Amino acid sequence: MLRIDCPVCGIRDHSEFSYGEDASITYPELSNTDRQAWYEAVFLRDNPRGLHLERWHHVQGCRQWLIVARDTLTHDISSVTLAHPKAASQLKAPRKLTKGNAGKASSASKTAMSKNAANGVAS
Ligand SMILES: [Zn+2]
Repeated sequence: MLRIDCPVCGIRDHSEFSYGEDASITYPELSNTDRQAWYEAVFLRDNPRGLHLERWHHVQGCRQWLIVARDTLTHDISSVTLAHPKAASQLKAPRKLTKGNAGKASSASKTAMSKNAANGVAS
């Protein structure tokens, strides 16, 4: 099982992530009009056996792009870093439940429980 240790969220199953691309690619400058250079950068890929740098997107987590160093033979991950550390520092702190929110959630679930009890449904 492939598990990725997201620097923001912690260890998560790879199904929460989406593979982006080979992280070792360097693209030509945008002003470069050489078709061959763009063709090679966009379409030609190595298929390395061993250590490979990859971009992964934590789609179902913090939504950060990560640089993952993965061995393509063993799937061992040797490092995971944020692709854009500055963006991560601007992440909002996790939302905390205030007393008001906690009370509303609590009374809503109590209402649902009493409806189920009235209908004879076990919850
Ligand atoms: Zn994450």
